[in-house]
Amino acid sequence: MTFDLTPEQDQLRDAVRALGRRYGHNYFVEKAKAGEHTTELWAEAGRLGYLGVNIPTEYGGGGGGITDLAIVCEELAAAGCPLLLLVVSPAIAATVLARHGTEEQRKRHLPGLADGSQKIVFAITEPEAGSNFHRLGTVARRDGDGWLVSGRKCYISGVDEADHVLVVARTEDAVSGKLKPALFLVPTDAPGLTRSKLDMEIVSPENQFLLYLDDVRLPADALVGESLDAGLPALFAGLNPERITVAAMGAGTGRYAIERASEYTATRKVWGSRTIGSHQGVSHPLAHAAVQVELARLMIQKAATLYDAGRDLEAGVAGNMAKYAAGEAAALAVDTAVQVLGGAGMTTEYGVATLLGAVRAGRIAPVSREMILNFVAQHVLGQDKSY
Ligand SMILES: Cc1cc2nc3c(=O)[nH]c(=O)nc-3n(C[C@H](O)[C@H](O)[C@H](O)COP(=O)(O)OP(=O)(O)OC[C@H]3O[C@@H](n4cnc5c(N)ncnc54)[C@H](O)[C@@H]3O)c2cc1C
Repeated sequence: MTFDLTPEQDQLRDAVRALGRRYGHNYFVEKAKAGEHTTELWAEAGRLGYLGVNIPTEYGGGGGGITDLAIVCEELAAAGCPLLLLVVSPAIAATVLARHGTEEQRKRHLPGLADGSQKIVFAITEPEAGSNFHRLGTVARRDGDGWLVSGRKCYISGVDEADHVLVVARTEDAVSGKLKPALFLVPTDAPGLTRSKLDMEIVSPENQFLLYLDDVRLPADALVGESLDAGLPALFAGLNPERITVAAMGAGTGRYAIERASEYTATRKVWGSRTIGSHQGVSHPLAHAAVQVELARLMIQKAATLYDAGRDLEAGVAGNMAKYAAGEAAALAVDTAVQVLGGAGMTTEYGVATLLGAVRAGRIAPVSREMILNFVAQHVLGQDKSY
């Protein structure tokens, strides 16, 4: 592992940073408050090739890896635009299809994911199953050549912006046995698929939904992969990219908050000529948060490097640790930024309290800090499972 990015990755970082800054946090918040989406930013990022950096070149992408996509996620977040759908569409859906989709599915979807004209969101969470994916109750039954899918999903991000939902279901013959998941590409306008928007306490232009699948009829080729055996590897293929890119988004958000706060504390004076940043009660918490964010970035780099080298198992451990570290660091950084800005920290104008909900959610989703600690306890420390 090297600490240096390639010259191309350096250029990507600079270019994405410039794009993000052109839009900025005010744009993100205004869109959220107006109930609109960041359509212009998404379209421009797609046109410039940033949404497809990890997609193979033969399908219109940049042919890079998760390291590249993590750079895009981090830099947009560091500019105040943490786009959750980057984690869902290019990181999860594109990786799953590129690795386990049929050739026909790759041709049909990857070029659109690469240029941003298509979005595919991801639905695994269910009200009853929660963190326990072995309890998934969404069932796919054979129907002639095709499938009938029924079940409920919750907290599904971006359904209103997407063309398809990648739905994780179990097949009928696996209802009572061990989870044998199958992934289905469900058009968002499929008859039988309905949604209701959840009211979330997060300032974000991206929304979460309850999804109801009521005998949604799908053709045979909606099943991801050549056969039902593709389901489990396809599901696992999405996990590492998800953890690494959501961690990168957290690290970028942490950087954004620390930068806003540092600018403020380096100029604000309330005790004569000294800046408030000269008081260690103000500067140390900020410096501490900066250390935590930088540590998380290091872990993200390790996880992405291992993943791009094809070392999936090691990337799994590092990716979980990176997600944990970045989730905690981002929450600390935003909370600290709010504190050192004083009253200004709670205003919309200074643009840090607007991130409190998002970073708090980052300790719960897409995998909670407790489930990561369970993973580390069992797989790294060899502890027994309590559940
Ligand atoms: C903003 C946001 C966006 C989301 N987007 C999506 C999406 O696009 N697609 C999707 O499928 N899902 C999405 N989710 C859902 C998210 O992945 C889940 O909320 C998360 O996995 C936790 O599941 P749960 O909410 O059912 O919590 P529960 O499973 O009910 O857990 C509640 C609490 O108990 C803890 N807990 C549970 N079991 C254990 C245990 N064995 N040991 C220790 N602690 C435990 C959990 O850590 C958590 O703190 C999103 C959630 C949010 C908040």
